Amino acid sequence: MDGRSRLHSGAKMEKPDTFIIATSNSHKVEEIKAILGGSFRYLTLKEFPGAPKVVEDANTFAGNATKKAVELACWLGETSRTKIERLGKVFVLADDSGLEVDAIGGRPGVHSARFASLDSGEPGNSPDAENNAKLLRLLKDVPAEKRTARFRCVVAIAPVTSGGNDVASRVCDANEAELQARTFDGTCEGRIAFGPSGSKGFGYDPLFVPDGFKESFAELGDAVKNRLSHRSKALAAMRVALGVK
Ligand code: IMP
Repeated sequence: MDGRSRLHSGAKMEKPDTFIIATSNSHKVEEIKAILGGSFRYLTLKEFPGAPKVVEDANTFAGNATKKAVELACWLGETSRTKIERLGKVFVLADDSGLEVDAIGGRPGVHSARFASLDSGEPGNSPDAENNAKLLRLLKDVPAEKRTARFRCVVAIAPVTSGGNDVASRVCDANEAELQARTFDGTCEGRIAFGPSGSKGFGYDPLFVPDGFKESFAELGDAVKNRLSHRSKALAAMRVALGVK
């Protein structure tokens, strides 16, 4: 369901002044800033050298996004208090996203970034071109009407509190960042083309044709993509929850 949000506790949400965007994907950073606009200050992990690389080993987008947001919020609370205090109410914003293709049982799903390297056993993400080539190979005999797919995104936000990693709940082992973490979902329906086209965007954009269009996301470009995309829907739900117009 699009725009669904989950509050992991009964805690009331404060409006953030600053988001620390937890991704090393510069395309995602630019999309997130363009979609959320000027209501917030934005930093990335580049401003916090030594930030841990969070292992994305959950089997859901929500699990991975929440893990990234919470672990980094705890780390920032412990290591960067003085810097953080100058930034007002600070939240880590992490997203986990990927492509689900119906004809292959919803793959690559949470493995979207490392789809090709699943075969070689290589650790880490695969180049976009290799992921796209693998997808086209798997779909080579699939006719147009069965090439339905969707991008899915879960955005998680977690507050950076000066209490860091301390357990904050009397009834479970959760800390403040976990207790106040929230997630927001977005999906974008479309289908997979028979070959790549366009040079904008990233990842599977050259193969993904959103419903209602003939061109791929990589041909349509940022302005159109940022209106339709899974990420823009998840972020729109977050804006509503924060009461930001
Ligand atoms: P993440 O960084 O773990 O969220 O990896 C998501 C992966 O899913 C990316 O590396 C892309 O392969 C794919 N993906 C997610 N969102 C998009 C998008 O907007 N366009 C194209 N590919 C995407």
